Amino acid sequence: MASAFHTARVIENKQWAENLFSVRLAVELQPFKAGQFVRVQLMINGEPMAKPYSLVNAPKQDDAEVFYNIVPDGPMSNALAALKPDDTIEISQPAAGFFVLDELPETKHLWMFATGTGLGPYLSILQDKEVWQRFDELVLVHAVSYANNLAYQTLIDEFNNQQPSQFKYVSIVSREEHPGALKGRIPALISDGQLEDSAELIIAPETTHIMLCGNQNMIADARSVLAERGLKKHLRRKPGHITTEQYF
Ligand SMILES: Cc1cc2nc3c(=O)[nH]c(=O)nc-3n(C[C@H](O)[C@H](O)[C@H](O)COP(=O)(O)OP(=O)(O)OC[C@H]3O[C@@H](n4cnc5c(N)ncnc54)[C@H](O)[C@@H]3O)c2cc1C
Repeated sequence: MASAFHTARVIENKQWAENLFSVRLAVELQPFKAGQFVRVQLMINGEPMAKPYSLVNAPKQDDAEVFYNIVPDGPMSNALAALKPDDTIEISQPAAGFFVLDELPETKHLWMFATGTGLGPYLSILQDKEVWQRFDELVLVHAVSYANNLAYQTLIDEFNNQQPSQFKYVSIVSREEHPGALKGRIPALISDGQLEDSAELIIAPETTHIMLCGNQNMIADARSVLAERGLKKHLRRKPGHITTEQYF
């Protein structure tokens, strides 16, 4: 189906930390799959600009939600942060993308790794019942620079409270000590076994599928340490163990 822009009204532009926000939008949402993204279009200096943003909301929910950070000198993210309730913007529908459960092979354990706002698609996936039915264990790993960027704790606690034996959440903070969080970067913490110790689950090609979402360095470095453990990129024509969504 061809995508088209639809007007969306800002309900709330919530600030989580200095440069970290989520915007909730009233819009008639067309059916989409958890993990997909829309293109958000705004007028910037009199010209329309559109960029992709993952949906945080589950497909069954009424409002659209996007989790984003301000990038220094970034035209789109700064314009998003300036939005006020009742402003209108446009989003492309239907949402698109292949970072969805339908694209994953059958296996036992799903690990979802995010840097920064790469958390967004997993929140949509985890609010959809399919993932809980398909996998025996789910591990959500969120890596940030500073502890105040560990957003959506209430929602993540709900996942944990609903299914404490099926769900594990591991937070990683790289630039400061934070109680309960690992310190460092995803690839190194896979390599030295700290992530598996923390999740009490082994990463192995026979039992594991990995989703990686966020910046290209994390994705490339994680893929290379996972390759040493026998996990390969997943393709439709050549099933493997790693599915990626690169934001930048
Ligand atoms: C499929 C897809 C989904 C995406 N979903 C999201 C999302 O849900 N939330 C989100 O915040 N962004 C998301 N992005 C990135 C987003 O589309 C924009 O690139 C980002 O908001 C920056 O736009 P900008 O115009 O402000 O800055 P730009 O001028 O486009 O970026 C300036 C520089 O900042 C870097 N950069 C881009 N994005 C980020 C970032 N998030 N954090 C740090 N540095 C960055 C890039 O290296 C770039 O060179 C997604 C990208 C893709 C491809």
